[in-house]
Amino acid sequence: MQILDGTLVSAHIKEQIKQEVIDWQAQGGKKPHLAAILVGNNPASEAYVGSKVKSCESLGFDSTLLRFNEDITEAFLISEVNRLNDDEAVDGILVQLPLPRHISPDAVINAISPAKDVDGFHPISQGKMMLGQPTFLPATPYGIMLMLEHYNINIDGLHCVVIGRSNIVGTPMTILLSRNTTPGNATVTLCHSRTKKLKEIVQQADLIVAAIGKPYFVTADMVKKGAIVIDVGINRIDDATKKSGSRLVGDVDFDNVAPLCSYITPVPKGVGPMTICGLMKNTLLAAKQKAQVSVGS
Ligand code: NAD
Repeated sequence: MQILDGTLVSAHIKEQIKQEVIDWQAQGGKKPHLAAILVGNNPASEAYVGSKVKSCESLGFDSTLLRFNEDITEAFLISEVNRLNDDEAVDGILVQLPLPRHISPDAVINAISPAKDVDGFHPISQGKMMLGQPTFLPATPYGIMLMLEHYNINIDGLHCVVIGRSNIVGTPMTILLSRNTTPGNATVTLCHSRTKKLKEIVQQADLIVAAIGKPYFVTADMVKKGAIVIDVGINRIDDATKKSGSRLVGDVDFDNVAPLCSYITPVPKGVGPMTICGLMKNTLLAAKQKAQVSVGS
């Protein structure tokens, strides 16, 4: 069994991005600039945005963090997104999800300019991804593909079972795994909360992507010997042995599943750092594409 080490792979990819930024600036390009919007003070969201901003600093990107109170209106948030759309200095925009219940995430995501949609959530990005056209790929599934690529894991013809059908993880994951690319060419089954005989389906998987948001959902009796397991889940559970009183676990019962696997991602330090790599690669691409458009116009 080999651990797929997100910290290690992301450090490697970040070195490449850093060098690309240096080369880009040497050719007269400007620093990529990511603008992040955080609404409210959900501690998990604070931590995610914080690490994205920190990554920008370490890669030589500019970043702006806009923080708003939980009681802002949807109209105000959309006007702020529009302001960033029009801001020539900004290359990429991310709105940290989840948003407060009174704000429609779809309305806000739809307001982001597709040219700055570095999370890859906009319908234009997702539509292009579905058609196999160049675009910003959703950061988490993109990061997982980068991880498979880094370890040279051949998934050609494998049966991949994705559990969870969210628009940001599960559903786009099925598309990337099944595309005619390397890595890719997998045969994919998507399971969700209404799936019947889920255990029997998962037992057939050569590769499992767990994106459910329920601690220890995937247990050892669901996993075929030699399977590859990618755990996307981030769940905080009580743990009296920790100073904080809690710790993070994935959607997979790691201790019991890992001995069965050929490869497995841990939580933390698995998919999480890869998501940031996906975001950073998209932001650099956005900066380069914007520069090309300005030269062309
Ligand atoms: P979501 O809540 O939008 O979707 C969860 C999915 O799980 C749903 O599609 C639902 O159908 C499915 N599901 C729920 N109960 C089920 C059941 N009993 N059987 C089968 N399917 C079931 O969640 P999401 O945004 O896709 O996130 C999933 C998890 O991944 C969360 O823990 C989230 O925190 C984590 N996440 C991690 C990263 C990362 O970078 N590591 C990024 C995004 C999300």
